[in-house]
Amino acid sequence: MRILIVDDEPAMHDSYRRSFAPAAVDTGALEAMAAELFGKDDDAADPAPDTTIDFTLTHAMQGLDGVAAVEAALASDEPYAVAFIDVRMPPGIDGKETATRIRKLDPNINLVIVTGYSDFSPIEIAKAAGPADKIFYIAKPFEVAEVTQMASALAHRWRGDRELAEARATLAAQVVQLQEQGHELAANESRAIHMANHDSLTEAPNRLAFRRALTDRAQLSGQFAVAMVDLDRFKLVNDTLGHLAGDELIRTICDILQTSIPAGGLVARLGGDEFGLLFDTPGAEAAEMECQRILKACTGTFKVLGNSVQGGASFGLIVTEPGETRDPTDLMRRADLALNDAKREGRGVVRLFDEGMDENIRLRRAIEGGLSQAIAKGELSLVYQPIVAREELEVIGFEALLRWNTNEHGPISPAVFIPIAEETNLIHELGDWVLGESLKVLAEWPGQYVSVNFSPRQFRRHNFVARLVETVQRAGIDPRRVQIEITETAIFDDADRAADTLYKLRQMGFRIALDDFGTGYSSLYNIRKFALDCLKIDRSFIDGMGRERESAAIVHSIIHLGHALGLGVIAEGVETEAQLQALRVAGCSHMQGYFFSRPVVQDRAREIAQARYMLDPAADDAVEPGNGTHG
Ligand code: C2E
Ligand code: MG
Ligand code: MG
Repeated sequence: MRILIVDDEPAMHDSYRRSFAPAAVDTGALEAMAAELFGKDDDAADPAPDTTIDFTLTHAMQGLDGVAAVEAALASDEPYAVAFIDVRMPPGIDGKETATRIRKLDPNINLVIVTGYSDFSPIEIAKAAGPADKIFYIAKPFEVAEVTQMASALAHRWRGDRELAEARATLAAQVVQLQEQGHELAANESRAIHMANHDSLTEAPNRLAFRRALTDRAQLSGQFAVAMVDLDRFKLVNDTLGHLAGDELIRTICDILQTSIPAGGLVARLGGDEFGLLFDTPGAEAAEMECQRILKACTGTFKVLGNSVQGGASFGLIVTEPGETRDPTDLMRRADLALNDAKREGRGVVRLFDEGMDENIRLRRAIEGGLSQAIAKGELSLVYQPIVAREELEVIGFEALLRWNTNEHGPISPAVFIPIAEETNLIHELGDWVLGESLKVLAEWPGQYVSVNFSPRQFRRHNFVARLVETVQRAGIDPRRVQIEITETAIFDDADRAADTLYKLRQMGFRIALDDFGTGYSSLYNIRKFALDCLKIDRSFIDGMGRERESAAIVHSIIHLGHALGLGVIAEGVETEAQLQALRVAGCSHMQGYFFSRPVVQDRAREIAQARYMLDPAADDAVEPGNGTHG
């Protein structure tokens, strides 16, 4: 610890020297002697930290020398902790001035003003060489103890202050560093977000951002337009002038789109030479005009890397109807369909989507139109698939399955046309026809029942039971020879009403089968309250039986459930001998599937019915026409 003494009297320096002289007794030597005599105590291996301070004195005879000493000490980074300064030091500067100059150099040093009589009041000196908590006074003549005590107290404080200041400085530096890192992270994050949502070539939003914007917009009210824009002959530019030129053209067109789109609209680069536009519009006509205007701005000759390039684009446009539900994927798909049409049309045009462009919609319309005339045209027919009992493979009934063989498109699967008929009233007409035909065929069979599929809509039709009963009676058929196949959907949507309908049907003697069992959301548990005769296990479970544990487990539990409730269980889609054996072991009462017979035409069904047993199922070859190969 360094101490500076500034005094013009040599005698004073002597008394300072005496004050700070080392203690007469050398405790270190004593300790060494003790250690030698008694051995070194392990616990004492770490001596207590030495609180006594070693002072190094610097002696200055004049104020200016003192100031110079402080300056040098600071320069060599060995500053003084304390300076003792005499007040009167002729002929040089006095103590007040010395203190003032030293303070200017070193804000941390503790100053002790040593004075015989007060030339200046302490306040005056403190004012000049403050702060007050770093200026102290000692009166001459002083006691040795007074000086040393003061020196060590101040030295301690000085050291503490210094350490504190150092710690603060490191902390401040760390805070700055952390802040910098924070800024950097935030910048990285926003850069990453930007990159994920923007196209690097044009800086425009990309497909992801477009989809997101579209999804958000679709949730708000008001009409809006989605346009897909594709540059015409872009490939030619790429191929003849190179990719750099292509890139340049993309950027140019992107700029034009961005400046031409209606205010609040969005331009995104979806990829390649394709852009997406999204903007609000009062209607289709207005949107089409906007697109025409934008198209015009994109059309013409552009300078690209010194070459003249003919720019042009095609637009596919879709405008939402007020109040329509908007699926973003579907909107983009439709705009794309319109774009395809525009390109086919010869490019450079705007095409507004219309439903004729949609293959799905077109097909639907065609099916709807065709179905309504199918009966009249004689395009419908029924095929029959035997349902056999477990042991002797006795044929106990046939499921009637509808076939539609169109003149235009060939055969169309009931899985395709039944759902479409379901959505219109056509299902009733079809259903009535199926029932009528099925009842007719019963006369040809010795005793088997016919199992007729009813869609949920038919089942919920007003007066369903009464109509059915009337039809069956008029045909002179015993209801016990008619099985009604319904699905879980038909009954669980309005369970109370369904339970009532089923009860009535059962009372009249009809058989009831729950079709595709296991695929719906039932509820093995509340199946009890419905009057049923049997469950038909969906063929997906039979199919999975040999492969997946779950399927086998489901098949087993359905069979158990059937037993417990006194219901028959028909396994659908039995295709192999192995499945037959497994189902027999599991206790399944009835089976149906290609292994026994494919659905067959009426004449073949009669033969099977009369033979009564499916003796050699594998040899049966007379399948329904137009059903392809089988095995
Ligand atoms: P569904 O009632 O579950 O009929 C069983 C379907 O499985 C039939 O298909 C049948 O040909 C097929 N199938 C039978 N055994 C096997 C087999 O071993 N393996 C395979 N892979 N398939 C087999 P289809 O005739 O195409 O009928 C499909 C669905 O159309 C029927 O499913 C039924 O829901 C509906 N459907 C058919 N005819 C009518 C009808 O007249 N009215 C109503 N409402 N729906 C009908
Ligand atoms: Mg069925
Ligand atoms: Mg089924």
